Amino acid sequence: MLNIALSKGRIFDETLPLFEAAGVVPTEHPDKSRKLILPANLPDVQFLVVRASDVPTYVQHGGAHVGVVGKDVLMEHGGEGLLEPIDLNIACCKLMVAGYPDTNLDSTQRLRVATKYSNCARAHFAAQARQVEIIKLYGSMELAPLVKLCDLIVDVVDTGATLKANGLVPLEHIADISSRLVVNRVAMKTHSHQIGALIDQLNAAVKMSG
Ligand code: AMP
Repeated sequence: MLNIALSKGRIFDETLPLFEAAGVVPTEHPDKSRKLILPANLPDVQFLVVRASDVPTYVQHGGAHVGVVGKDVLMEHGGEGLLEPIDLNIACCKLMVAGYPDTNLDSTQRLRVATKYSNCARAHFAAQARQVEIIKLYGSMELAPLVKLCDLIVDVVDTGATLKANGLVPLEHIADISSRLVVNRVAMKTHSHQIGALIDQLNAAVKMSG
């Protein structure tokens, strides 16, 4: 049995057409089912419905053999024990530092940075030898500067509309983000046939869609 971890929402919706083109689909939609294991059209495959930030953990520890996860989540996790054979080129956005347009980024004062991407933010500012205080949040990062919880945020930005609606602007680019197929290193050997075929089919689907 091959376990494929997917998260509900944007990644699921954008991944599904690629899996369809690759000939592997869940037979139930996660929004219409409370099941966390969804059967597939193939008897030796099933889909696991996992929170986005948990996909790398499931795949790292072998709970799932493969998964689909945003590069932002993967960078924050660190990617230990994972192979990343395909850029699926979906759910594209950018990981950015954002804040008020008049923020003094060269300030010698220690800036406070609110984010759910605490590892990415720490690495970004450390690489520039800038001292920051990281404030860990789990959502609605754009709110934090408005109530002076922080000077800056680190978040994923797509159109920039959410930042704009809250009087904020993107200030620094950290990384281009898209969803990736990740594979457990051991499963790549134990399930080489099945996973190799899936990679080939998904690669072809990505090329077709691009
Ligand atoms: P936007 O207003 O289009 O810049 O979208 C920004 C909001 O949507 C942020 O609050 C993000 O958390 C979320 N978002 C945008 N793109 C993605 C993505 N590819 N993956 C996850 N969250 C995203």
